[in-house]
Amino acid sequence: MKASQIIAKAVKERRKSLLETEAKAICTEYGIPVTRFKLAKTEDEAVRFAEAMGYPVVLKIVSPDIIHKSDVGGVLVDLKNSKDVRSGYNHIIKNVRKHNEKAGIVGILVQEMAPPSTEVIVGMTKDPQFGPALMFGLGGIFVEVLKDVTFRIAPITEEEACEMISEVKAYPLLKGYRGMPPADIDAIVQILLSTSKLVMEHDEIKELDLNPIIVYRKGAKTVDARIILE
Ligand code: ADP
Ligand code: MG
Repeated sequence: MKASQIIAKAVKERRKSLLETEAKAICTEYGIPVTRFKLAKTEDEAVRFAEAMGYPVVLKIVSPDIIHKSDVGGVLVDLKNSKDVRSGYNHIIKNVRKHNEKAGIVGILVQEMAPPSTEVIVGMTKDPQFGPALMFGLGGIFVEVLKDVTFRIAPITEEEACEMISEVKAYPLLKGYRGMPPADIDAIVQILLSTSKLVMEHDEIKELDLNPIIVYRKGAKTVDARIILE
């Protein structure tokens, strides 16, 4: 489905937040790299998808009623075999049920596990005066504790995307630090530009959060994408 169809469907179903599968399909349409995924509806299906994808895998709850998945025990990473996937599948459903008996469960997402590397965050919030503001920062404590982030009003140029990246205080870490490889800055620039295009073309998007994006020496992978509608 195209981005506009995905958004129209959510609006029709009176959903304000898109499922991870929907948000990532939109990302893919705009050239934003995401982890490979398949939506499993049964335990057997989850195992089949994991075997085809190759271990390790990540399992995640897909529910219109759950926005912060790990808060409810809805994410399991680094599952290494079919036994892990089977027990993980049931464990996630149990955790989610414990948290909210009535939560709708669309399925469990089986996802390739992106190897650890430097994590960055790209976001968008709407400024009442200036419209969509794009945000960039490094993952973890840099955004959450130190508020080391930078903003630009969309649409942004390539030059502005480069500025956003180089002006955060943590920028030197992107050049490689203590065993972390230097990060592919150009891949981040492209993601910022694609996100800018995406939010400019879809005014119905109120907030967007690519958190985290794992960046490698070459390329990057968005492992979680959240889109909230007006
Ligand atoms: P939420 O933000 O809704 O709690 P996420 O999808 O961000 O859920 O998952 C929580 C954490 O699990 C992420 O921040 C990341 O560290 C890790 N994670 C999730 N998916 C993957 C993946 N495909 N590969 C590697 N790590 C992942
Ligand atoms: Mg997340």
